[in-house]
Amino acid sequence: MARRPILVANWKMNLGRSDEALAFFRKIRSGLNEIKGVDLVICPPTTVLHQFAELLAPTRIALGAQNAHWEEQGAHTGEISPVMLAGVCQYVILGHSERRATGSNQETDEAINRKLKAALTHGLTPILCLGENLEQNRAGQTDAFVSGQVRAAFQDVEASLAASCIIAYEPIWAIGTGESASPADANRVIGLSVRGALAEIYGEDVAQQVRVQYGGSVTPENISAFMAMPEVDGALVGGASLKPQFVELARRAAAD
Ligand code: PEP
Repeated sequence: MARRPILVANWKMNLGRSDEALAFFRKIRSGLNEIKGVDLVICPPTTVLHQFAELLAPTRIALGAQNAHWEEQGAHTGEISPVMLAGVCQYVILGHSERRATGSNQETDEAINRKLKAALTHGLTPILCLGENLEQNRAGQTDAFVSGQVRAAFQDVEASLAASCIIAYEPIWAIGTGESASPADANRVIGLSVRGALAEIYGEDVAQQVRVQYGGSVTPENISAFMAMPEVDGALVGGASLKPQFVELARRAAAD
């Protein structure tokens, strides 16, 4: 099955001031807008989401948030609900390792499952991040751990909604380190553990529909090798999405 590739720029907690975000966007806008062979999504900080909703409206580029709570409203200081995001952006990153139990927000698999269901209920497309840490990788636990994360995230999610989700396989040891997984390893984990778990839950049809990205130190230099892998449907890009060379990275992602 031919899946359309998708490239997501995760700006994390950078470029959150309106003037700096706009200055950077001006550098990449026309280049990105010419690229046709890949879906493009920018996930800026919450502070500039509304501004980017307007900036991106006339372009081919979609908008995503970096997180959403599962509740619609209430006593959750500092959180943002899926209701607040619906109508502003189309995508939302969920379960990034920088927010999971391994990161600064102690998010559990159960919390991520609730967030995923709430995002889907409100018409947002989740970009679900998962991946093993270095210890698990070295102990040969990657496949069991990653497939367990898939099963936990999709608990009680119906098949048609699951098929619309994006998954980003991001080995934690590769994020922001300059040491990416090998394209062959990423391909194997995505095929075996991510699609394998999806196939167990939903059957092969749904498993083949879900777009699965690789994330972790993707650059203009290595993107083509990842895109050449049959199981890899694009990339989630952190550091390299904050540089004007992101346009070249996107061009190469579209070329394969
Ligand atoms: C990320 O933010 O998910 C990420 C993969 O970052 P980087 O590209 O910098 O490794």
